[in-house]
Amino acid sequence: MEIRRVEAVPLRRELDERFANAQKWISSREYCLVRVETADGAVGWGECWGPIAGTRETIDDRVAPLLRGRDAQAVESVHEDLVFDLRSAYHSTVPAGLVSGVDLALWDLRGKATGGSVATLLGGARRESVPAYATGHFWPPIEEFADLEAAVVSEAESHVDAGFDALKLKIGTERHFGWGPDADVALVRAVREAVGDDVALMADANHAYDLPAARRVADGLAELDVRFFEEPLPPERVGAYARLNRESGVPIAGGECWAFAPEFRRVVNAGAIDVLQPDVTSAGGLTSARRAAEFADAAGVATYPHVFGSAVALAASLQLLATLPGSPRLEFDRTPNPIREELAVDPIRNEGTTVPVPDGPGLGVEIDPETLERFRVE
Ligand SMILES: [Mg+2]
Repeated sequence: MEIRRVEAVPLRRELDERFANAQKWISSREYCLVRVETADGAVGWGECWGPIAGTRETIDDRVAPLLRGRDAQAVESVHEDLVFDLRSAYHSTVPAGLVSGVDLALWDLRGKATGGSVATLLGGARRESVPAYATGHFWPPIEEFADLEAAVVSEAESHVDAGFDALKLKIGTERHFGWGPDADVALVRAVREAVGDDVALMADANHAYDLPAARRVADGLAELDVRFFEEPLPPERVGAYARLNRESGVPIAGGECWAFAPEFRRVVNAGAIDVLQPDVTSAGGLTSARRAAEFADAAGVATYPHVFGSAVALAASLQLLATLPGSPRLEFDRTPNPIREELAVDPIRNEGTTVPVPDGPGLGVEIDPETLERFRVE
């Protein structure tokens, strides 16, 4: 399977209404897909986390010539050579999203070459469908806390009506709205009171707090039986994560901003988290996410991959989730997004609170060429 062509395929859509988390306002969704074609005409797809700008150019100018002529089945050695080359180019950082996109496309090709799913290549599926939790609950542009509370509660109820029994809420309102930790806990309490005790709740702060504020929020979340408290702190503060995780009555989660096996190993060994959340589009692909999940499991830490991408990211995450030990849950992005919903010929949908693992060859996602052209940007 000689690689003949590597191409960046950037997609973008402006949202009808912008929404926020603790870090930023989101007014468009964009994805840089990677298309890898072999000399025998097989095509693999991957997806890179992050802005199109820079990723597209690096794939076309630097990665494509490096990979041309390589064996597409040698996924892990291509991955390592790519990391080595990009480190020599950038020194202080390796663009992990870009490595991830290539890695996913090669796993897709490897699966297609065998006719089996990537889950089979990763050791075999333990489950045909994965329990999911609904992610969303971003914040609309409003001014009053009561309006935010009403919008989030209404959205939570809509996911429960759609069959979900687990929801993840966004907290960390201070940067955009000037409210603080107590308002954040009040927001979670309002949802708890609306949906009842049988719905599992999780909360994601997207790095909103320092350690004292995170402790205060953790105490409030523990009282509301929140299953995990995601990214309470900036990801580089691994020691503070470990202190919080030791002290907190609610399990601490994180991982979407960490990449590559040595970093995952460091945070797991530090006791920074009880739930690890590598994102297959930014962690270093399935190669790194799988290694991270193995360290985590050996340390008694659960892996719930972070997912906030197109249908390619969703399919790749499901392939990993199918193989993980324990009782992992899929993060199922429920924000309106036609690129995610229409990019696959057979869209990946929830059946109540579970989502079936695609069982076609490779990642199991067939790209709809019309959708691709509709959202493709130059
Ligand atoms: Mg998150």
